[in-house]
Amino acid sequence: MRTVVVVGGVAGGMSTAARLRRLDPQARIVVVEQGAEVSFANCGLPYFVGGEIERRESLLLHTPRSLARTLGLDVRVRTEALSIDRAARTVTMRGPAGEETIGYDALVLAPGAVAVRPPIPGVDHPRVRTLRTVPDAEALRDWVTGGARTAVVLGAGFIGLEAVEALSRAGLSVALVEAAPHVLPVLDPELASWVRDELRAHGVAVHEGMAAARIEDRDGQALVTLGDGTELPADLVVLSVGVRPRTELARAAGLELTDAGAIVVDAQQRTSDPHIWAVGDATASAHATTGALAPVALATPANRGGRVAADSIVGRAGRHSPDPLGTAVVRVFGLTVAMTGASRRALGERALHTARVHSGHHAGYYPGATPMHLVLHFGPDGQILGAQGVGQEGIDKRIDVIATAARAGLHADDLVDLDLCYAPPFGSAKDPVMILGMIADNVLSGVLVQADPVTPLDPEACLVLDVRNRDEWDRGHVEGAMLVPQPEVAGALESIREQAAGRLVVVHCASGFRSYLAHRTLAGAGMPSASLSGGFTTLSRAQPDVVASPALAVG
Ligand SMILES: Cc1cc2nc3c(=O)[nH]c(=O)nc-3n(C[C@H](O)[C@H](O)[C@H](O)COP(=O)(O)OP(=O)(O)OC[C@H]3O[C@@H](n4cnc5c(N)ncnc54)[C@H](O)[C@@H]3O)c2cc1C
Repeated sequence: MRTVVVVGGVAGGMSTAARLRRLDPQARIVVVEQGAEVSFANCGLPYFVGGEIERRESLLLHTPRSLARTLGLDVRVRTEALSIDRAARTVTMRGPAGEETIGYDALVLAPGAVAVRPPIPGVDHPRVRTLRTVPDAEALRDWVTGGARTAVVLGAGFIGLEAVEALSRAGLSVALVEAAPHVLPVLDPELASWVRDELRAHGVAVHEGMAAARIEDRDGQALVTLGDGTELPADLVVLSVGVRPRTELARAAGLELTDAGAIVVDAQQRTSDPHIWAVGDATASAHATTGALAPVALATPANRGGRVAADSIVGRAGRHSPDPLGTAVVRVFGLTVAMTGASRRALGERALHTARVHSGHHAGYYPGATPMHLVLHFGPDGQILGAQGVGQEGIDKRIDVIATAARAGLHADDLVDLDLCYAPPFGSAKDPVMILGMIADNVLSGVLVQADPVTPLDPEACLVLDVRNRDEWDRGHVEGAMLVPQPEVAGALESIREQAAGRLVVVHCASGFRSYLAHRTLAGAGMPSASLSGGFTTLSRAQPDVVASPALAVG
């Protein structure tokens, strides 16, 4: 009989154990979890803090007893794995009954990650908490229901934003502090600006590009002082500035780690020791787009890794863990924000094109369409490098479709050919994802030359031609631009040529469609031109300074 010991009894560890049981009904499977709960829904914790999930029990998907009954697992909670003897193939653990050493045929490490605690003076103030475990969530919930009125959240990543939303929905006045230049640093800045607006619209005080300098006690409250001297008093502070892999056990056992301390595994989740596998947040994977070797701290890769590890342990060849795209989604009040693959910043100097769509989430003639902003980065060969979206409805669906296409090796221009479902309440006959594909097809085939809305427009080198109508111009326009509404472009070719005086004509409309039409007209007349990707909507977000009437800029 094979003995398998699993360290860590939540996402990755429990997926491994459950799959193992299905593959090997005879195996002795021991799951060791240092916390009081196993198989809890960490992704649900913010919603418990905010009160949307009302009962603590809803977060607990299983107990040691239910796992013993249904899967025959020997689950030991409040038990910490202390050391591994690789030569003897034993794990020593300490639990309520004292220390014990168990021999294993296979060992699985799924210890997850720990919250980073930056060296801010005062970070150990009792009102400063992280949000990683059920007890963490309970402590925050107790304060929320016990009369806390103000909160500061440090870090505007996924969990930070979920904490902000939860605390704000629970009635607290919340300040959010992010050291990076904008909230959700994994997003391209112009898309992140919609997230910032949404936070502010819900009363959140957003401090970007600003770190906490110190935390002090003021009459039992925490007083957070920012780098610029701003003081933020808080009944509670949520520390959410990132995680690091929890790999002390693996390090002490001499397993191969990356420079940043994550466990190195192969595509079968096997570590540098052939009898030890590792899964989840503690492991490094090569990012599917950038190749960067780093942990991807998301539940889906952790769960899938568990399945792959179990298959490998029983000798089932074939399945392997694909390099993750980091597909993720977060709700920020009324907005959904989702992404897959790499952001522009993560792509660095890599040559790329970008397609942008600003459209309704379903056919405009059907009532209730809400705005959707999508970005697709793709290589000169058409490879899908990354996509992001912000909007109220349908964003998760669009990003999942693109993530699926990328996983299948489809190219950006293949998105035109997708067979997507359509009826007016759900989408458009030309779905925004297909429009992204059309733009990519036009760019790759040379029908469309794009100008970059993120790079400053040089008046020496280009004439900006605005092809929107007069009303749109009056609500905000680029300083020094020439206005010729798109239907009039064909009749105004000579005056445009004269104004351009040999410079490139950068054409823009609100979102990129009318400018594409005008660009084709100019190209037909032999005038060098480019259509501004994402139009004025992107430009006014990416470079608000170039807009003549910023207060009136289109949103
Ligand atoms: C608040 C929150 C919200 C999240 N929301 C999302 C989301 O919406 N979508 C998403 O994809 N991901 C989300 N995640 C991330 C996701 O939960 C993790 O990526 C996933 O749980 C990782 O699985 P894991 O098995 O590696 O680690 P975990 O699920 O964290 O489990 C590791 C377990 O190992 C135990 N352990 C560690 N060392 C030892 C030891 N020596 N002995 C015994 N036990 C040990 C720990 O106590 C822990 O319970 C969220 C995470 C948090 C904290």
